[in-house]
Amino acid sequence: MDIRETDSEYVAATYSRFPLTVTGGQGSVLVGDDGRKYIDLGTGIAVNTFGMCDGEWVEAVKKQLDTCGHTSNLYYTEPCAVLAKMLCERTGMKKVFFSNSGAEANECAIKAARRFAFRKYGDESRSTVITLKSSFHGRTVTTLAATGQDAFHTEFGPFTGGFVYAEAGDLDGLEALCKQGCCAVMFECVQGEGGVNALDADFVHGIFGLCEKYGILTIADEVQCGNGRSGKLYAYMNYGVTPDIVTNAKGLAGGLPLGATMFGERAADIYTPGSHGSTFGGNPICAAGAVNVLSRIDDDLLAGVVRRSEIIRSYLAGKPGIVSISGMGLMLGIETVKSAADVITYCREHGVLVLSAKNRVRLLPALNIPEDLLLRALEVIAASAAE
Ligand SMILES: *Cc1c(COP(=O)(O)O)cnc(C)c1O
Repeated sequence: MDIRETDSEYVAATYSRFPLTVTGGQGSVLVGDDGRKYIDLGTGIAVNTFGMCDGEWVEAVKKQLDTCGHTSNLYYTEPCAVLAKMLCERTGMKKVFFSNSGAEANECAIKAARRFAFRKYGDESRSTVITLKSSFHGRTVTTLAATGQDAFHTEFGPFTGGFVYAEAGDLDGLEALCKQGCCAVMFECVQGEGGVNALDADFVHGIFGLCEKYGILTIADEVQCGNGRSGKLYAYMNYGVTPDIVTNAKGLAGGLPLGATMFGERAADIYTPGSHGSTFGGNPICAAGAVNVLSRIDDDLLAGVVRRSEIIRSYLAGKPGIVSISGMGLMLGIETVKSAADVITYCREHGVLVLSAKNRVRLLPALNIPEDLLLRALEVIAASAAE
């Protein structure tokens, strides 16, 4: 069977895949069906926190697979409880709802914010959620509405109502929207799909000040920037703030589908039995993978993320064809004179896999990528940019 031909014929054409079939790999090295090895700086879009087929993670997941797979949420299971406790202890949050993806984690947060306002004001007059321009919050009809990028909206309307967009950095604009009546401000501390933009500290503090002033919730979408990627466990921790709701997915289970919506003090009791649910959410196998991932994101590992980030920045800064570097930790965007697409192609042809976000080359390597591999990949990126 020709895999690419069969895939193109039968899989819905939503992805323009690169001409590469991945057959396996280990850590930060992927293997293609051409037998070639590739240094992976994309990790399945910030999902494979410790790279492909990480030994310890595989062991933890296999053990759970052999013990207790799926049960539904009608029963208690150990990994789900352990993971929720771990997430709360590491963040100070009070409750966690588990789902399967980032979009669902955000849906859960949006529903919660609306219910919060409904209970406070007795009607739906404050149901609007403010999000930011250039944000990305998912592909469902509601999370697309939350996504502040017109490009994703064309031809899919009508959308769920109740979303308005503020410009990142514009506190006056944000306050004007707050005054119109809303229930929450939702933001990514580091916008991923929007081009790898870390929000300014003043702006983030401003969001929290306004939410306090207007009695509304802060929702940090940590789906991409969370789970150690920013150099702290969650990116909001770099800003010294505590959101009311934190949404989580991509890297959480290290390669398995798991979403989590975490609720702080003010939001902990919004959901009551029967008011929300998920068939797969908190599945023991995914939760066991996540327990392994979270238990390994310790101070040492985070220091390694910061060190690798500095290696990347200092290696690429000022090299020919490199215009600027944005982002935080191991979530970096590189603006090149050449188009991002051309850099991606050159890199792949030279054995390095990188991503793009808007006009930038996006790097999301494994948090434990060996530094020699990282340097080899950087040589290729620099050569591509200089060409
Ligand atoms: C990827 C992403 C989502 C959507 O996650 P899915 O698992 O694809 O539904 C939401 N928010 C952010 C910030 C993301 O990067």
